[in-house]
Amino acid sequence: MTGTAPRIEVHLLQVGQCRHPEWVTLRGGRWSAAEFPALSALLIHPTRGALLYDTGYATHFDAATARFPERLYRWITPVQLAPAQTLQHQLAARGIALGDVSRVLISHLHADHVAGLRDLPNARFSALRAEIAGLAGLSRLRGLTQAILPALLPADFAARLDCADDAQGIALGPLWAPFDHGYDLLGDRSLIGVPLPGHSRAQMGVLLRDRDDRPLLLAADACWSARAWREQRMPSLLARPLMHNWHAYRATLAGLQAVALRQPELLIVPSHCAETLRAYARSTARAAA
Ligand SMILES: [Zn+2]
Repeated sequence: MTGTAPRIEVHLLQVGQCRHPEWVTLRGGRWSAAEFPALSALLIHPTRGALLYDTGYATHFDAATARFPERLYRWITPVQLAPAQTLQHQLAARGIALGDVSRVLISHLHADHVAGLRDLPNARFSALRAEIAGLAGLSRLRGLTQAILPALLPADFAARLDCADDAQGIALGPLWAPFDHGYDLLGDRSLIGVPLPGHSRAQMGVLLRDRDDRPLLLAADACWSARAWREQRMPSLLARPLMHNWHAYRATLAGLQAVALRQPELLIVPSHCAETLRAYARSTARAAA
């Protein structure tokens, strides 16, 4: 990301939420149920228009989990999506139609990140190749054990997909160690896809500078809260089967802390952290005032 890369207007949208006891996502956390927002980041590029980083939940999730065995997903993860929280509603409130979204940068294929893809008729998709490769030959049951519901993907998903790894590679430099490389997703250094291994087969974070010139790392599920990277708190062992590689997840979590300590101005944005969503909304409101 260079000093001249276009700045991105960022809106962090909470598109539904689920409830879990806090200790599931944060070892040593509370027993009481906590609410975990599902994030979709609206990214407005000065010339390329509206893009999204993930979609959060959508009504398709209900249809995809109506039958067994997928219904188990809904039981384990009770989801709420109020009409005013839908992507359609929140985009319309900003003068954007679903058909205006030109691209979705997909962090990974878990259902709470891709449930809205079918509502975006004109969007192309970017994801890391190895993440998509995991779909090949995936049965419904096997998908379910990995929180992947293939029914959520548009029928022409493959035709609309661009592998992020095919974009120009970028060396991130010592400030970003242990994350050493990224991909220049739009070719103008405004949005850099960064592999964040461990949580899924090939999770992709996105690095950008917002309109206030603040560096943001959209980090999806590399950590489930700001506390997790600050205090290096792993999820409960109960969540371990959901992780593609537990040891790589631990290394990525440590990497996020190392990067944050070197760059105090960097905002790490987990996809399910209410604290970070609120703090960013407050800081952008202040900057606009
Ligand atoms: Zn996930």
